[in-house]
Amino acid sequence: MNSISTQITPGLQARKGFTGIYVHYPFCYQKCDYCDFFSEGIGEGKSNVEDLLFESYKKEFSLKKANSPELKTTKIDTVFMGGGTPSKALPENWFRLLKFFREELDFSSDPEISIEANPEDLSLDFIQSLKEAGFNRLNIGVQTRSKEGLKFLGRHYDAEKYENLKYLLQNSNIERTGIDLMYGLPHSRKEDFLDDLNYFLDLQLSHVSLYSLTLEKGTSYSRNVKDKKASPPNEEMQREILELLPSLMQNRGYTWYEVSNYCKDRSFSRHNLRYWTYESYLGLGPGAHGFLDQARYGNPRNTAAYLKHPGKPATEETSSPREELALSLFRLFLPIHIPSFLEAHIPEEIAKKMIFSLDGFAAKGYCDWDGSRFQWKESALLVLDDLITELAIST
Ligand code: SF4
Repeated sequence: MNSISTQITPGLQARKGFTGIYVHYPFCYQKCDYCDFFSEGIGEGKSNVEDLLFESYKKEFSLKKANSPELKTTKIDTVFMGGGTPSKALPENWFRLLKFFREELDFSSDPEISIEANPEDLSLDFIQSLKEAGFNRLNIGVQTRSKEGLKFLGRHYDAEKYENLKYLLQNSNIERTGIDLMYGLPHSRKEDFLDDLNYFLDLQLSHVSLYSLTLEKGTSYSRNVKDKKASPPNEEMQREILELLPSLMQNRGYTWYEVSNYCKDRSFSRHNLRYWTYESYLGLGPGAHGFLDQARYGNPRNTAAYLKHPGKPATEETSSPREELALSLFRLFLPIHIPSFLEAHIPEEIAKKMIFSLDGFAAKGYCDWDGSRFQWKESALLVLDDLITELAIST
């Protein structure tokens, strides 16, 4: 099924000894109607608290480092600047922050250093400055090339920048460059999405994330749908597209490695793989979450509160490792070495229940499973949420 699956490998294994860093930059040009990330629209130009924000990241970092044995004993192998729109910040600020992290922590020899960007911020000079700042992975939130689609989503549209994207992607000297696209917008056709997709696939990007538009609680879009001011996502079209993507993408040379994520030549998002494989990460910034020393925390979704007390979490989060492992690991469509994850994270009695569920899935034809190596089949895709729920909670 997946080009990565070589039948002789045991599958993806649980790792120890590595940690990642996530930094949340909370500003965007404008707040998109469907977005439930913590972010604030501030128009063009840089935020007037940018310098303070970067100082606060360092303060939070120092507090977390002082209290974390894990940060002192592991190697950092991924750093991810997300948001929000981190490309809105000055590359020099990211350069200085990365330098600070490198001085303070032990980095692996080949870390993945990623940044998310929006088209309005990009030019070849800007991409060059991101490269000089130390980024080796760039992910661009495109969503759609349709002006009407972007307007529907409440996203900023800069015609010149969108038209220039192809040129930028062809000439980006950050070797791992990818995009996000969205499908299932009401009033759009399946063909419109496929046109966009083919347009970008022709550029041989190393990574492509393909998401369906969803209604997230608390967003303007979900309120507008509730008040009948906007149409809901086109779910029938979403199902059709979801089903056709795996073979379409694999025919174009991409490995399908997570429900919505595809890559060429093993250019996985290593940072996101860390979330899906239950690995630890330091989260910094307003609205950021972290998972360090086996404890989860969430920072306040309020920039002013964060700047006042960087490092003071709004929530200490508890959840069961079984639930978390089920909800993350089983989104992957790669072969997985199940014993390594169960032994690392799950008590034996619970592990037996999970294995019982996997046996049942195999009997129904949803996966390849030999008691050690597990891999979903494409037939699981449309019922994946139900299967994962069974894994997370069945007794
Ligand atoms: S640009 Fe991205 S983070 Fe910002 S509001 Fe839109 S979807 Fe959310």
